[in-house]
Amino acid sequence: MVSGATAVTTERLFSMAARLASNFRASVLNRPHRPARDYAASVEAFSEDLPKLGTDMEDVLALLAEKADPGLHLMAGPRFFGWVIGGSHPMGVAADFLTSAWGQNAGNHTASPSAAAVETIAARWLLDVLSLPPGCSVGFVTGATVANFTCLAAARSQVLRHAGWDADAKGLFGAPPVSVLIGDDAHTTVFSALQFLGLGHDRVVRVATDEQGRIDNASFARSIAEVDGPAIVILQAGQINTGAFDDFASLIPLARSKNAWIHIDGAFGLWAQASSKTRHLTPGVDQADSWATDGHKWLQTPYDSGYAIVRDETAHRRAMTIAASYLPLANDEERDPSHYVPELSRRARGFPTWAMMKHLGRDGITALVDNACDATALLAERLSGEPGIAVINEVVLNQLILRFGSDLPPEQGDHLTKNTIFRLQQEGSMFAGGANWRGRQVMRLSVINYQTTPDIASEVAETIIRTYRAVRSRQNSA
Ligand SMILES: *Cc1c(COP(=O)(O)O)cnc(C)c1O
Repeated sequence: MVSGATAVTTERLFSMAARLASNFRASVLNRPHRPARDYAASVEAFSEDLPKLGTDMEDVLALLAEKADPGLHLMAGPRFFGWVIGGSHPMGVAADFLTSAWGQNAGNHTASPSAAAVETIAARWLLDVLSLPPGCSVGFVTGATVANFTCLAAARSQVLRHAGWDADAKGLFGAPPVSVLIGDDAHTTVFSALQFLGLGHDRVVRVATDEQGRIDNASFARSIAEVDGPAIVILQAGQINTGAFDDFASLIPLARSKNAWIHIDGAFGLWAQASSKTRHLTPGVDQADSWATDGHKWLQTPYDSGYAIVRDETAHRRAMTIAASYLPLANDEERDPSHYVPELSRRARGFPTWAMMKHLGRDGITALVDNACDATALLAERLSGEPGIAVINEVVLNQLILRFGSDLPPEQGDHLTKNTIFRLQQEGSMFAGGANWRGRQVMRLSVINYQTTPDIASEVAETIIRTYRAVRSRQNSA
């Protein structure tokens, strides 16, 4: 028997979900920044054979919350600095609740006029706040990985078309080879996108980078000089460890001279465009052909939300739609969301994006960027004031990498850095991860949560310093 929900049970179930959600969020400020249960214990908690008989909906929801809760990581908290993870703002979450409840298939504008229309408006707002050309098309995808994929699919199609080859129809077998230039410190997911597109993650030309992970202009000039035929150049706005930006103003004209398609991965860094305090980092960024960025990082929407932005709308649609559906519509004013993304059926991702931007306004988005950068600068200043802690990167944005025991031989510094990260994670009053940078262990802080105030940043700096001192004195006496 399939249970039919009455209006009363639906009301109770949705209210219960809302209560559980707000209880979780209320716990964000005093819950440890580490999951109480690891993966194996979490599998154990959910483990049972598929039951023959069903369970009442409220009981299922209660069970889900009870079983999942201990294995949740406090990624939405103000002291979470791991990877690059936005705060999943309540405004976006609430809009996402409604999106699920409405159950709209956002494939086309006749199926769901509102879902398509909200994307039209949100796309316009995104281009405005990111200072990109207003004529660009925007696909609402799951994240920057798929945004990179979508943009590079358009790039592949277009550069081959110019070489007389229809890759969308004929594929890559027999196609003229496409040169792909990419910085050595590009994000791993861009290499994945190249892999999915048949361009290969290894056959690319990896251009040397400087100590901040920026493409070295002289190396780029040498590599691009050798390009002959169709070419794609991939640049970066915001390196995940350092926050560094490639020198778009110098590199883009060189790429243009070879008729290359220029794509920029700006998963979080493109948001530097939203503030006059960070826009000095991005000159020339608007000269590219396509851009990938995320909503679920700096804009604080819940997962999954990313944007594939393409200057040439026809190239974008041609790469994402089959048959003649990319040809001009009867009414060109009408948007079909599926023409800009790889999927047909999907959730109406425009709603949470629209809600976040409407809630924050232009000033609120600027403040998000400025606050995170200010908190990062404060952390850098406090931490570098402690003997033996070194800030490794030029702090230009919201990314900070640190070495502990910087006065010691490198191996001891690696050890001390690893142990400090471990101790902090054990203690659980905040979360930071580690990374390998230029062959050495570092601690990474990515400041990208709307709740990370200067007060919290200075308290976090003290926690890190206190933990480092304790680990160091223990290591000395061991
Ligand atoms: C996070 C990130 C990506 C991947 O984005 P997802 O949203 O995880 O798919 C790509 N590039 C950079 C620079 C990133 O920071």
